[in-house]
Amino acid sequence: MFEFLRRLRRPAPSIDDELWRITVAALPWANDLDAPRQQRLRELSARFLREKTITPVQGLQLDEVQHCMLAAMCCLPLLEFGAEGLHGWSQMLVYPDEFRVKLVDFDENDVQHEWHEEISGESHDNGVLIVSWADVAAECAAPHRGDMVVVHEMAHKLDFLDGVVDGTPPLPREWQLEWARDFQAAYEDFGDEVDALLDAEDEDPDRSANDDEDPGYLHGIRITAADAPEEFFAVVSECHFSNPDALLARMPRVAAHLTRFYGPSPFA
Ligand SMILES: [Zn+2]
Repeated sequence: MFEFLRRLRRPAPSIDDELWRITVAALPWANDLDAPRQQRLRELSARFLREKTITPVQGLQLDEVQHCMLAAMCCLPLLEFGAEGLHGWSQMLVYPDEFRVKLVDFDENDVQHEWHEEISGESHDNGVLIVSWADVAAECAAPHRGDMVVVHEMAHKLDFLDGVVDGTPPLPREWQLEWARDFQAAYEDFGDEVDALLDAEDEDPDRSANDDEDPGYLHGIRITAADAPEEFFAVVSECHFSNPDALLARMPRVAAHLTRFYGPSPFA
């Protein structure tokens, strides 16, 4: 009788052992998690694969392992937060490479400007999450560089869960106040440093002010973090997972909040 009832219950979604083994081997971040967190990632990923649709576009083909890799990367930022972090959207689109989008902005005179840009990921409020497979693959090959497009877009999803995109995900009240204060301070400091860097390069275009680094980065953190508070949160989230030392060195308070929110970095 009990056995009969047990069979009536819907089984928890699962990923079979061999598929999970290959997926973890392909993902440096999953590989470096301890066993309990790897197990949690597996359960979240199974749920992701049951609830979400992953659609490759423009002729891209993705096999079962690649689907599972994308699910695991989306769930990596949810190890502490839990499956509620998957709420509010259902569709992931995967382009073979960077894709072109139209961007619109207004200048100081309220004149509208439109331009096109190639980007590696995009997340629509309450809607589709889009990433470039070429970027995902490049990040798996160089996992310490500070870039993780899937984590970036998932940070935007977490940020939007409370209905406001402002760089603060849903948190208990007291923590939220501390988070807002520490993130705002770090965002402003980083913005000042980026402004100084760009001014120096304007004055002397031949000599980059940060010769030691790839263009587009400052202290190992992508300078687009200075664009807006929500971009800052998404970019430092990437660093938490893929370049935690740089983040800890430059922004210890932000690093501490992210460690509490996401759990310890796999590479810490
Ligand atoms: Zn972004």
